[in-house]
Amino acid sequence: MKILIIEDEKKVSDFIKKGLEYEGFIVEASYSGKDGINRCTDTSFDLIILDLMLPEIDGISILKTVRNAGIDTPVLILTAKGNIQDRINGLNTGADDYLVKPFAFEELLARVRALLRRSKKDKQTHLKFDDLSIDLITRKVTRGEKNIELTPKEYSLLEFFVMNKNRVINKITIAEHVWNYNFDRGTNFVEVYVNRLRNKLDADYDKKFIQTIRGYGYIFRTEKK
Ligand code: CA
Repeated sequence: MKILIIEDEKKVSDFIKKGLEYEGFIVEASYSGKDGINRCTDTSFDLIILDLMLPEIDGISILKTVRNAGIDTPVLILTAKGNIQDRINGLNTGADDYLVKPFAFEELLARVRALLRRSKKDKQTHLKFDDLSIDLITRKVTRGEKNIELTPKEYSLLEFFVMNKNRVINKITIAEHVWNYNFDRGTNFVEVYVNRLRNKLDADYDKKFIQTIRGYGYIFRTEKK
């Protein structure tokens, strides 16, 4: 699940980003209205967290632009402007929820999950691959009847693999999508994480999902060994 934060206060943005990443979400941060609008049009986001007071273009204008463009990604407004008129205005413009600063991270997380659950109701909430099943909301992973306990990063990596199943993906692409790195520090850590995931996911089974393409990357597909 991919979330965009449009928030000019770097401290607040970093705090949310870190917390959501720990929960296994993939998070991108935007610090201005103009940049925010550009990124919103990328419809691969599952949720947008939007501040109202931003440089260049304010949050309400962003929301109007996004909705007028027919983009129905859920939007959670997060702002210090908490009076009733502001809230009504935000919701009338097309926001799905409204949270006033200062806020508790736990409440933000609960609202994020509720919005995702609601918006995915008629859409995809599970990924299936062979005997593997992933609940995209609770991030519960099972293979056959067995629960597989993953760390947040291992989970993000697995989700990325399954979304790109049967396709060769190189390590740089993985690093960029799962870790959001602009890549210049080697791919060693990708290998480390892939091996950890492999131990939890494949080690006990005849059918292996993660295949290494030597010198390049990986492909996620069913292979009997
Ligand atoms: Ca602000």
